[in-house]
Amino acid sequence: MSGVALGGASLVRATSGSAQASRDSFTLLSGTEHETDGFVIRGENEGPTVLVVGGLHGNETAGYEAAGEIAQWDIESGTLVVIPRANEVAIQRNTRTGENGDLNRQFPTGSQPETELARAIWSVVEEYEPDTVLDLHESQERYDGDDIDGVGQTVFHSDGQEATQDAEDAVNFINNRWIDDSDYHFKLGGFSGPNSEPTGLFVHKAARDAGADAFLVETLSTDVDLSTRIKWHSVITRRISAEELFAGTSSTTTTATQTPEETETPEDTPTETPEETETPEETETPEETETPEETPEPEEPPSATISTTPSDAMNANLEKGTVVELDASGSTAGDSSIVTFEWDLTGDGTTDATGAKTRVKLDACRTFPIILTATDEAGLTDTTEITLSTV
Ligand SMILES: [Zn+2]
Repeated sequence: MSGVALGGASLVRATSGSAQASRDSFTLLSGTEHETDGFVIRGENEGPTVLVVGGLHGNETAGYEAAGEIAQWDIESGTLVVIPRANEVAIQRNTRTGENGDLNRQFPTGSQPETELARAIWSVVEEYEPDTVLDLHESQERYDGDDIDGVGQTVFHSDGQEATQDAEDAVNFINNRWIDDSDYHFKLGGFSGPNSEPTGLFVHKAARDAGADAFLVETLSTDVDLSTRIKWHSVITRRISAEELFAGTSSTTTTATQTPEETETPEDTPTETPEETETPEETETPEETETPEETPEPEEPPSATISTTPSDAMNANLEKGTVVELDASGSTAGDSSIVTFEWDLTGDGTTDATGAKTRVKLDACRTFPIILTATDEAGLTDTTEITLSTV
């Protein structure tokens, strides 16, 4: 009966996945007309939690369709919680509101949500304590700065430097890469104050009562293909949550596989006590200077680096069919030189290409792990990985 009691584990009805990465789901208000599913996707690596909600308004189709696609994402890190169809009654009626009025006015800051459905949705915030919250909507009019009814093509964001920067970055990204016609460029909007209308917005409560970086994404529902609007939602959501959910996939995550730490930091080895070699008596014991830690010149390991064309491909949501040029020639090998570059373009551990440059065609809508292993003249190797994604 009560929507407040999410009950965490008791509602989890399906689990699959490997050691740490997993996919779970739960059901809110089971057995009622408001019954709706939520999804919990965990990446392999620890990280923040992102909550994405769609369908608070039932006639804002791109928002709940995009959220449904986002619930299928594979992520690298952190936790992604998605409630694609928050207001199932309204969605089925294809109206803004369902039972009990406007759901996105029922989350007052500082007090309990006002309806059973609103409390059920809020219970997910309390359960998962998201660091970032995205709420996906549509509007029939463009945002002109103050019109409550017209908020299309806007990313509203909570206060704070990081939320502001993330929203700015996402807006710049989608405008530059996805939208040629500046009439359709997204704008930025700050959240209205807690005492100004409209009040009771879900994202406002998420920011003010739960401390999340919160974003309200609004596409223009008129005059634009549904598939385009869904893509815009997906691209913006992915861009804003990239740091949280797709961390550990940039070129900075290099791992030198065959380099003992001592060779990298000779000054840290306790066996090197210069006083001993300075006393004349000690020079008669040549054994000491033959300790293996001291004699070989430390071999500087190679450092594998991948650059891409387009240059920001690893942070982008690329179109299916995009060909990405991969270039390893920025890799370094100290005094030595790199003799082989091996590319694993499928993540299966086998080499698909060799040479400093290759290319990959992103022929499906998924993520593509790209793993480069560089080997130098001394046989030392370094491996780096990036992930490319299509939407
Ligand atoms: Zn809405």
